[in-house]
Amino acid sequence: MTSSHHDTDTDAWSTDDAKALYMIDRWGRGYFDVNPTGNITAAPLQERGRKIALIDVVEEAREQGLRTPLLIRFQDLLHHRVRTLNEAFNRAISDLKFRGTYRGVFPIKVNQLKEVVEEILEAGRTYHYGLEVGSKPELFAGLSVHTDNESLIVCNGYKDENFIRTAMIGRKLGKKVILVAEKLSEVRTIVRVAKEMNVEPMLGLRVRLMTQGAGKWAESGGEHAKFGLSTAEILAACAILAEAGMSSAFKLLHFHIGSQVPDILVIKRAVREAARHYAKLRKMGHRIEYMDVGGGLAIDYDGSRSTFHSSMNYSVEEYARDIVFNIADICDDEKVPHPNIVSESGRAIVAHHSVLVVQAFGSIEKTPEAPIDIQTEEHKLIRNVLDTRDSLSVQNLAESWHDILQAKEESQKMFELGLLNLDVKARVEALFWETAERMQKLIAALDPAEIPEDVVELRSKLADQYICNFSVFQSLLDHWALGALFPVVPIHRLHERPGAESTLVDITCDSEGKVSKFIDLSDVKETLPLHALRGDEPYYLGIFLTGAYQDIMGDIHNLFGRVNEVHVFLDDDEECGYYIEETIAGNQIREVLAMTQYDTQSLIAKVKAQVDGAIKQDLLKPTEGMRLLADYERGLKDQTYLSF
Ligand SMILES: *Cc1c(COP(=O)(O)O)cnc(C)c1O
Repeated sequence: MTSSHHDTDTDAWSTDDAKALYMIDRWGRGYFDVNPTGNITAAPLQERGRKIALIDVVEEAREQGLRTPLLIRFQDLLHHRVRTLNEAFNRAISDLKFRGTYRGVFPIKVNQLKEVVEEILEAGRTYHYGLEVGSKPELFAGLSVHTDNESLIVCNGYKDENFIRTAMIGRKLGKKVILVAEKLSEVRTIVRVAKEMNVEPMLGLRVRLMTQGAGKWAESGGEHAKFGLSTAEILAACAILAEAGMSSAFKLLHFHIGSQVPDILVIKRAVREAARHYAKLRKMGHRIEYMDVGGGLAIDYDGSRSTFHSSMNYSVEEYARDIVFNIADICDDEKVPHPNIVSESGRAIVAHHSVLVVQAFGSIEKTPEAPIDIQTEEHKLIRNVLDTRDSLSVQNLAESWHDILQAKEESQKMFELGLLNLDVKARVEALFWETAERMQKLIAALDPAEIPEDVVELRSKLADQYICNFSVFQSLLDHWALGALFPVVPIHRLHERPGAESTLVDITCDSEGKVSKFIDLSDVKETLPLHALRGDEPYYLGIFLTGAYQDIMGDIHNLFGRVNEVHVFLDDDEECGYYIEETIAGNQIREVLAMTQYDTQSLIAKVKAQVDGAIKQDLLKPTEGMRLLADYERGLKDQTYLSF
């Protein structure tokens, strides 16, 4: 490591400045912090447990043969989230003297990994916390890991006969499996299959509310939603049940207005609308036991505590209180019994628990690395930019910017017409970026309000691109698809002042494979301050709050596939306070190839045939040919990401 003790910049910088710059306290919520040596720490149990430096986990994983990109899961953090949610509801229920109980379920589509689901069920055992499934594969997984017959399995999504039959297996085993009908035809099939199998079904109906969500998933709710029954269809469903003598099967009323609802007012409105449906149905004699408020409990990804799409203007406690209060309010008004409350929070349970660590291994810079050598007899265009550079001041920023833009444009035009040599074009461009960088330094010292409008774009124009060893399509899908924001912070060197404004690019051959939108307290930032790369020393960035949807939805664009993964448990008996309980190696090259029908044996056989042919034609000596073939075979077992 190079010592920077004599650097005055570093002296004036503390880890508190880093915490403020990256807003760690705001989105970290007591789970993440910076230690005095400038490393990010995780406190999976907040103030009640130990802190673990992420860089230590990265180094230990490396010793076990797992390089970055590395997904770190903090299993204790899952426990903490499950407890936080359940206790928030239980406290609201007792404070408001609510007469139902809380029976939350974890929607496993948000993270289906077995270790994650089992950890959540274990943490939720005392609360009878159950599962929500939305497809046949999820139901098959759910039936096997679910063992607490007091807790629910709620089945959402469109269903065929086999889905329904599989759910009935759960009923035969004494489980409270509730089939939520999305269509009337499903109600008919449920009635028929239940009779054939001689089981008592538990049925839920998903009501289509007029209240529409807010944020990026607003389309999940409202009149034109993909799921749910209109009021008329709900009454028709009740009639089908009554005709079959199965009215008592109707146990749950469900709604879901979409994920990541940033505004609590929208949630309150939806709860009141649904509670009204519940109350009216109860008054008609339907003994519904559960009211299910779906998902939507948001995560404050940007720490702004606002109604921006990547934030939320409420806490988990406020969410629970508002749901309990508004259901009670309407039930009391309509004089019907309080239901048990079910919620299906996924994001709020798992988002915090995983961190993706990626290595930045290079940068693409615009400014010249070496000073530009200026000769006396320079081209007129070069002299123009030079003059601008040398007379630059705070007073002529906008004018200077326009002048150098014009010079650069002109040089491009002349080049296209064949009037300019490559070396002149190169010098104009190099001087352009050098001048722009000097302007940027002047701007940095200005009050933001004084910066001329035209020059504001300079910062993002000048930003370096850090090349990071990961795939946005595998590990950060919602950033690419929806512009969702995630906190990105170096996990070490935070005692040093970061120098460069940067964006991130991944290693896929896709220009969309980049991160160029970052969290900010107001709106979105185009660049992220990062430290200069130092020789061969690895520089690691943490991408935080990625536990919900991201690490499970990724695709194999460019055949990169799954990343290495470690599961960390706190343990006071260990010297460092934790241990890595499980490691899961990322995909090998032969594995991702097999997913696209390239069978390993036939790959090798075909390359061998070509090696044999080359030997016959004397292009290769036999020993060399065999060695190359062995290299190819060995290489198939390598990991897909780059190794340094
Ligand atoms: C996706 C989904 C959820 C989970 O939503 P979160 O916002 O992640 O809590 C819950 N219920 C249903 C029906 C869903 O489709």
